Amino acid sequence: MSDAQTTPLLPAGIFEGQTAFITGAGTGLGLAVATRMGRLGANIVCVSRDTGHHEQLLARGAEEGFEVLSAALDVREPADVKRVVRAACEHFGGIDVLVNNAAGNFVRPAMALAPKGFKAVIDIALNGVFYVSREVGRRMRERGGTIVNISAPYATTGKPHVVHSACAKAGVEAMTRSLAAEWAMYGIRVNAVSPGPFVSEGAGDRLWPSAEMEQQVRDSIPMGRFGTAEEVAELVCLLSSTATPWVTGAVWLADGGWSLPRPMVEGVPERIDRRRRASDAGGPSPESD
Ligand code: NAP
Repeated sequence: MSDAQTTPLLPAGIFEGQTAFITGAGTGLGLAVATRMGRLGANIVCVSRDTGHHEQLLARGAEEGFEVLSAALDVREPADVKRVVRAACEHFGGIDVLVNNAAGNFVRPAMALAPKGFKAVIDIALNGVFYVSREVGRRMRERGGTIVNISAPYATTGKPHVVHSACAKAGVEAMTRSLAAEWAMYGIRVNAVSPGPFVSEGAGDRLWPSAEMEQQVRDSIPMGRFGTAEEVAELVCLLSSTATPWVTGAVWLADGGWSLPRPMVEGVPERIDRRRRASDAGGPSPESD
């Protein structure tokens, strides 16, 4: 099967009566998660810096009958995070699901990476996750809830040219496990989804901006294709839902094998090739021993 074919996992209405606070919900993965959760019954709080990015989600909510509250928020600003979380709770009566999806990334060799660039990514993708989790966690304390953080496979493997993002995501995974252990007593589950390269405008523009680079990334994925935001979103929804009540502190990888080791040498090694030729000529087949 070469193309994405997702069989929906979750029953209709599973998020009925719940409110999901999703950072960066106007584009890419955030938009896919917000759309899916809205269709499954949730009210959505969509936050990011530019509310112009929320129009598509607002239109989908209006057409399909789920409520979307759109608010401008830079997750790097703790006071603004507090204000927006309070406003969302006042509007919907509480928050049941948090998805920390907002992040920034770009490709830069470490020796050419300015301290300002390193700090900017850490501020959004790590510090911002803490500020939002802390505010929403305080609100969830009374009635429980679920948090899903978006990581990346290089949080554990490391990766050249994205040291800033790798460090932020490694911190996010440590935060996921720490808060899961600390907040289980409040009925708050904390998990992470770690996607490999999936199609999004933001990632394409910044990480594989030419057709040649895009092909190089595709070639590095054993399953031979990019993921889709929708298939990653399904996993985020599953972990956010009541379908996984005993899962906490987990990091779920969805990367088409991208983070797995590559062969020692690319292509079929010469020795195997020789054996295949021998088997074609009537010798022992490589599959028979
Ligand atoms: P994207 O479309 O560029 O989404 C990033 C979102 O974050 C945007 O909606 C942006 O909205 C928001 N954002 C950025 N800075 C913010 C800030 N300071 N405060 C609040 N919101 C902010 O990218 P994506 O590809 O869907 O990525 C989504 C998540 O998946 C990220 O966590 C990323 O690290 C992760 N991921 C992506 C890939 C991939 O291949 N695409 C692979 C692994 C992991 P505004 O501009 O309006 O603020």
